[in-house]
Amino acid sequence: DMARKFFVGGNFKANGSLKAIQTIVENLNGAKLDPNVEVVISPPSLFLLTTAEKVDSKIKVAAQNVFDKPDGAWTGELTVKMLTEHGIEWVILGHSERRTIFKESSEFVADKTKAALDSGLNVILCIGETLEEREAGKTIDVCCGQLKAVVDKISTADWSKVVIAYEPVWAIGTGKVATTEQAQEAHGSLREWLAKSVSPEVAQATRILYGGSVNEKNCKDLATQPDIDGFLVGGASLKPASSVTITVGM
Ligand code: PEP
Repeated sequence: DMARKFFVGGNFKANGSLKAIQTIVENLNGAKLDPNVEVVISPPSLFLLTTAEKVDSKIKVAAQNVFDKPDGAWTGELTVKMLTEHGIEWVILGHSERRTIFKESSEFVADKTKAALDSGLNVILCIGETLEEREAGKTIDVCCGQLKAVVDKISTADWSKVVIAYEPVWAIGTGKVATTEQAQEAHGSLREWLAKSVSPEVAQATRILYGGSVNEKNCKDLATQPDIDGFLVGGASLKPASSVTITVGM
């Protein structure tokens, strides 16, 4: 949709040395990025500040997680203030690896989303169903349940700072990308649900990204769909060449 600026996020997860990340940053800085595409990269927390310093200012940096409480006795966590005070404008929340491996509930993800938005951060909110849930016909129920927890805690105006990433769990890191039809169908249903549950304006304006085994080959076809407004890219974002290809000419 022309009204929604295309968005490409790179999630490095717990990968990459300082040197490897500097190479990715240099590649992105040197690339002729399409000005109509918003690009955000998300290195491990240790590398956030260097990345924010080195990367071209048109490319934004995202943390991969944040805690919902102010600075304090939360060993191992990052607070929203640490991010906002140091030029980190985005945070990824609710990634399926956080939900499954670290047992984050939808309510906790919603509390963190609220804390991040209240402090002025922008949020890439990840949702998605497992293979078992898809096969049981529960895809939309599961994804909308994850969204509902957030809808219940944030205001309608807050949605202008949220990008949704639809990431089927079975497609993440598996090489099994959703078909263009599967992705469009899910995105269309999510947008309809947003119209009903938040507002038609929010549904129209909110970017819904697809994530799950996106690469430089399959991205073009997915990007043709009316409700696919960008990508959250894991594995391919670590390869300097493909991260550039995916972000150019979308
Ligand atoms: C992700 O981590 O958000 C992701 C989509 O990973 P991959 O592209 O490697 O499937």
